[in-house]
Amino acid sequence: MKLRVDRITEETSESSFEAPVEELNERLSSAGTPDFRLVQPLAIDVRYYRAGEDLYFEGHCDGVAEGQCARCLESFSLPIAAPFEFVLTRAQPREATQELHTDDLAFSFYTGDEIDLTPLVGEQAILSLPTRAVCREDCRGLCPSCGANLNTDPCACKTVPSDPRLAVLANARPRTLS
Ligand SMILES: [Zn+2]
Ligand SMILES: [Zn+2]
Repeated sequence: MKLRVDRITEETSESSFEAPVEELNERLSSAGTPDFRLVQPLAIDVRYYRAGEDLYFEGHCDGVAEGQCARCLESFSLPIAAPFEFVLTRAQPREATQELHTDDLAFSFYTGDEIDLTPLVGEQAILSLPTRAVCREDCRGLCPSCGANLNTDPCACKTVPSDPRLAVLANARPRTLS
């Protein structure tokens, strides 16, 4: 959603909009979070006002992301509920040549007559996603031998004990036998 800078007043305004899935998914894959994609538009509620040339935004976004579990490879959905708050300051011509604080999400510069809120808020939604997609904390993943999904499909393969103390015992046994 684009806002005209001259329509942002000192009075707080409120707005709701939906950010399209396609644009956000492009950002997700370029942000190095390709394990997730959005399956429905992101619903965004935002309040905003100005103080001089500084523009203040706060609100929250809600949506649903779909991920592929890094352990069992099953798809799962994850609700997105991310509050956000940021300030945009008009870039002065002399500052345009300086390094802009683009890594600092809470404080950024804007130029021109329009603010596009979709990438700014989309960034917050993306940041709220975990860096690694796992369907649940205790996902047992796939059997390394037969590929069975161990959450739903326990197989007969001999599994390596996950407890390191047991692993030591398992490694020690053949040596004591020989
Ligand atoms: Zn899983
Ligand atoms: Zn197996």
